[in-house]
Amino acid sequence: MKAEHVHDDLSNVLFTKEQIAQKVRELAQQIDRDYHGRDVLLVGVLKGAVMVMADLMRELEGQYPMDWMAVSSYGSGTKSSGVVRILKDLDTDLHGKDVLIVEDVIDSGLTLSWLRTNLESRGPASVEICTLLRKPDAAKTDIDVRYVGWDIPNEFVVGYGLDFAEQYRNLDCIATLAPHVYE
Ligand code: 5GP
Ligand code: MG
Ligand code: MG
Repeated sequence: MKAEHVHDDLSNVLFTKEQIAQKVRELAQQIDRDYHGRDVLLVGVLKGAVMVMADLMRELEGQYPMDWMAVSSYGSGTKSSGVVRILKDLDTDLHGKDVLIVEDVIDSGLTLSWLRTNLESRGPASVEICTLLRKPDAAKTDIDVRYVGWDIPNEFVVGYGLDFAEQYRNLDCIATLAPHVYE
């Protein structure tokens, strides 16, 4: 879906379809370089990371298996609750694997820091994080994020997998949501 179809709900397009494609390509190149020849598992965080994962995998030259987790931290609102629940766990044994978590956005960092600790306790060789977007609060925490697409301002964004109450995920760009939609 293109931004023009929900024009009134958006205040600003941050990244176009083309800019996102280019950024994902760059991330894939870095990942290929760093992980060449290793026993990698890409772990996507449902549902927001679906688009990033699908595009990232197609840009990677290496063949890396993927698995998915679903965790809940936000519900349908726009503020982190700080409470993380596993809704769907991995199917894969992590022993000896180089795990790369693939995320759409890191805001408070609460979800990711919890997830990383959780995965690290399962015996992997390493756990790193790749996120397309990162907000200022996350940059302040001590979670080390190896791959970041863009640092963005502290605004609620939708599109390219990111939802508001399950809407706007299929927007082909990333945009800030107009306050009248959620206020
Ligand atoms: P954190 O725990 O880092 O505060 O939040 C992580 C999760 O909250 C993200 O994976 C995402 O699902 C959701 N989230 C955080 N910021 C945004 C945003 O600007 N837009 C949308 N749609 N979801 C967000
Ligand atoms: Mg996410
Ligand atoms: Mg959401």
